[in-house]
Amino acid sequence: MAARPVTIGLDNLCSFGVSSLPGIPPGRAKALEHLGIESAYDLVTYFPRRYIDRTKQALIADAVPGEQVVLVGRVEAARVIPTRGKLSLVEATMADESGSVTLRFFRQPYRAKQLNGFDREVAVFGRVELFKHRRYLVNPVVDPIGDRTGQIVPIYPQREEAKITSETLGRLISGVFNLYPEVADTVPRSIRSELGLLDRWDAFQLIHHPNVLADAQRARRRIAFDELFRIQIVLGLIRRARADRSVGISHRAAPFQGDGPALVSEFLDRLPFELTSGQWRTLEEIAADMAAPAPMHRLLQGDVGSGKTLVSLVAMLIAVQGGYQAALLAPTEVLAEQHFKSISALLAGHRVRERDQRLLFADDHREVSAALLTGSTSKARRARVLNDLAQGHLDIVVGTHALFSEEVSYRRLGLVVVDEQHRFGVEQRSLLRDRVESESGVVPDTLVMTATPIPRTAAMTVFGDLDLSVIDTMPPGRKPVATSWPQGEGAEKETFEFLKSEVGRGRQAYVVCPLVSESDRIAVKAVEKEYERLAAGPLAGLRVGLLHGKLTAKAKESVMDGFRSGEIDVLVATTVIEVGVDVPNATVMVVEDAGRFGIAQLHQLRGRVGRGSDSSFCFLLADAESATTERRLQALCASTDGFELAEIDLELRGEGTLLGERQSGRSDLKLASILRDRDLVEHARKHASGLLAQDPYLTSHPWLTREIRALFGEQEVSYLLRS
Ligand code: ADP
Ligand code: MG
Repeated sequence: MAARPVTIGLDNLCSFGVSSLPGIPPGRAKALEHLGIESAYDLVTYFPRRYIDRTKQALIADAVPGEQVVLVGRVEAARVIPTRGKLSLVEATMADESGSVTLRFFRQPYRAKQLNGFDREVAVFGRVELFKHRRYLVNPVVDPIGDRTGQIVPIYPQREEAKITSETLGRLISGVFNLYPEVADTVPRSIRSELGLLDRWDAFQLIHHPNVLADAQRARRRIAFDELFRIQIVLGLIRRARADRSVGISHRAAPFQGDGPALVSEFLDRLPFELTSGQWRTLEEIAADMAAPAPMHRLLQGDVGSGKTLVSLVAMLIAVQGGYQAALLAPTEVLAEQHFKSISALLAGHRVRERDQRLLFADDHREVSAALLTGSTSKARRARVLNDLAQGHLDIVVGTHALFSEEVSYRRLGLVVVDEQHRFGVEQRSLLRDRVESESGVVPDTLVMTATPIPRTAAMTVFGDLDLSVIDTMPPGRKPVATSWPQGEGAEKETFEFLKSEVGRGRQAYVVCPLVSESDRIAVKAVEKEYERLAAGPLAGLRVGLLHGKLTAKAKESVMDGFRSGEIDVLVATTVIEVGVDVPNATVMVVEDAGRFGIAQLHQLRGRVGRGSDSSFCFLLADAESATTERRLQALCASTDGFELAEIDLELRGEGTLLGERQSGRSDLKLASILRDRDLVEHARKHASGLLAQDPYLTSHPWLTREIRALFGEQEVSYLLRS
């Protein structure tokens, strides 16, 4: 009677080094290292980059110049071609029964020997080029596929140094499956059957050796789900551990629950407009969190102009009406000042009960107080702000990273609002909170706002340790900003003529020049020159102001004040105006050299107009430098929906840019895509939460526990699982 094979888990595969596998001598292990493969786990998760479906393979005769192709054939007569100069060139002819094509390799002298050594079929990938009626592939990827019998041949990512063919890799990977015929599945059967997912080890085998392409698809889906599920489990554990372990504040959150005259309800009564339904809903979510004893960790999303700042201010007033302080952290001085100004204006005349009864005489109420603290706050002023914060005379402080400084201490910090999260590291975000916790033993609530939207499933993954609130409405009366990309000779002239006609109607405008780095003096010179050119030429006769990051804080403030009050018609600026600047009378945004900006930035810049009830216009001036530039600018012209644009952006830039900062090492997504696999992200989130609700410490899921320990780090996970 054959014994059942011992079941092992992915965690075991992580600890089996490749050199302990059969058929892997030391030399080969070294080569695998070049591919980042050190363990059996690395080997089975080294997924094919593509497959060749040999039933549908293109014939060489059909290869069309300009197109990317996969061709399979035999290589004949590889030879070194003498060239003048040092550039080495190897040429070879590749043929199948339909015809032939020439392969050219520059700077790869070893190819002559290598290609002549193959007596079997080879797959090549590259773009077909046409030169003097002959078709060429220049520096194609070459992969000997050998005499594999299957119809679907996996092709693995290659690296020159490794010199391991797809065929060899495929064989080594099969070796793992032969050695370990059974590996534990960590996703409960009920979830698998609800989602129609394959058994896991079957999926691993099928992704490497599919019988038909549909197998590879199903296998990919299963393995992608696992990646997302593990991440959601870990994020869920982080949320749970935080809620369990830290002592938060139960704020007096309901609008009418205030101390004395209810600050929040009065504030809302006196607002000149009604909150939108999205603002109400998110505020209710925030208020519920704040009222609860566990610390809030919430992400507030909303499109540019949806009124996030106002929502965050109400949250701050919830803290203040219960006698707590609130801090608002902004990424730039300009934005901090802007926030401070608008908050101060909204707060005028609002009163709160003084907490420290000793200070009181007849009236126990005082005005809600707010202050600004940035790197350029004067010494004397700074000393006063620090003192007022420590004494509790100050309710709200708005500032830049200066708020992180060691000398800043708070009397009763109850809420931290972090604006434009992506500019701060995750560590920075928690710095302030952790310090307050260590000083007072209490964790203040945290509300994070992003400048531009992030697609929902990306937010669930990248900011998945936070609860998510989305403002999905815009204040009434907003008209979408009419966006165009004028091209051709007269484009600039016509744009500025239009701008002038708007100024003639009493409106204002921005002209944004790109600036590579704010600190670069040469770049600042370039902006100054552009300002002079515009003021003397296309914008002659208008009152033009200049704003860039290198101006003194005072100069910046006076230019912004001039623009706000209408003394300046046109603000020529760098992207310092990108975030937060709010002048409803401005209706024209001109972005010069718009190809230099990303989608999110352009959307943010465009969001500076369209803030009043008048029609607004955005002009993107740019040459089409590349296909992606073109796609970006066209997307901006076609859509004003920030969430839609965020998806296009992520697609164009790649997901790594978003994930990179937050995830490291083995927890990386190898197969799953937060855009393509939207449905899986949602399922993973839902099922991970469900599982943790039933089994918060994963006691009845030992395989899953072992796996996330191995993949996410023993220490981190132990910390999360300790009750
Ligand atoms: P965000 O920070 O989300 O980009 P803002 O907070 O800057 O948006 O809000 C944009 C503008 O809309 C501000 O001038 C703000 O006062 C105004 N605003 C916010 N909420 C409303 C509302 N419910 N009705 C009308 N105007 C609003
Ligand atoms: Mg709370």
